[in-house]
Amino acid sequence: MSPASPRSVPPPPSNRPELTIVVPVHNEAENLPLLVERLKQVLDGAVASWELVCVDDGSRDGTLAVLKLLSAQDTRISAVSFSRNFGKEIAIAAGLDHASGEAVVIMDADLQHPPETILAFLEKWREGYLNIYGQRSDRDGESRLKRNFAKLFYRLFASFGETELPEGAGDFRLLDRKVVDALRALPERARFSKGLYAWVGFPSTGVIFDVAEREHGETKFRYRKLFSFAFDGISSFSTVPLKIATWAGAIIALISTLTALFFLLRTLFYGTDLPGFPSLIVSIMFFSGIQLVSLGMIGEYVGRIFAEVKRRPLYLIGERVGFDARTVDHPR
Ligand code: UDP
Ligand code: MG
Repeated sequence: MSPASPRSVPPPPSNRPELTIVVPVHNEAENLPLLVERLKQVLDGAVASWELVCVDDGSRDGTLAVLKLLSAQDTRISAVSFSRNFGKEIAIAAGLDHASGEAVVIMDADLQHPPETILAFLEKWREGYLNIYGQRSDRDGESRLKRNFAKLFYRLFASFGETELPEGAGDFRLLDRKVVDALRALPERARFSKGLYAWVGFPSTGVIFDVAEREHGETKFRYRKLFSFAFDGISSFSTVPLKIATWAGAIIALISTLTALFFLLRTLFYGTDLPGFPSLIVSIMFFSGIQLVSLGMIGEYVGRIFAEVKRRPLYLIGERVGFDARTVDHPR
């Protein structure tokens, strides 16, 4: 990339903090002060210098006001606020764009990701790992249904995709500057970051952590959102669903040719008889169903292509808080 390109040039290494914490926040006003408190306890003394970059993902509960207050109290805290809700994945991408640290930790605002685990991440980082993911020790806090869906998803992803996802690894992780720059160079809009982290590679390792209870408020991920998230993940890393449609089509075409042959011969040798309505209706419904499903699958991919070729900006920023003292490179 040339230096003139709008999204290269992170600030020079000399004035970089050692660590940036990136936190996507959506309606977390109650959790933020507590998070900052816990981070201070953990990080002061553990790293030479750190900063906190919060991305306010279109909150409506005064989160931005809280962020402004926190930033005024502590210059290490800064925030960008989106013009609307763009979703957690995109908030993380924006956070990476605004992070200047030698390493970046991504974590949730609701204290489900214990700040103390960052120390374990740092230890691995100093050992030379560049891409360190937190692995939840169990999914106790979740319903059995959700856990089973998660398991199914990992299995599907593993059998469809060429990219391997470590099980139980989420967004809580530490990325070296090299990994951050590699991720920022990926141009895609449909961001399935779990997959992207794995796709970029680099020496990786996991750190087990216990998921804490959510401190305040409730989860923003309902089933519908999780399903679309899962499909996003599979379709941006695999074209197997399209191949399934092709294979199903081929197999059914073969079966129907054989059936046609059977009926032809039977008619030739035994003459015709009228009955056969139910089988007619059933086969029409069956084949139109298959066709619609295949069309829908193709449609999903076409939709994704459409979203990519529009080349809209990934996010729009309404306000930046606490960045005046620093030079910030512009987001894509
Ligand atoms: N979040 C976000 N944008 C959204 C939804 C969630 O930035 O549209 C943030 C949220 O504030 C939190 C993190 O993503 O910091 C995880 O969200 P949540 O705790 O609701 O998810 P869960 O822990 O249930 O997976
Ligand atoms: Mg949570």
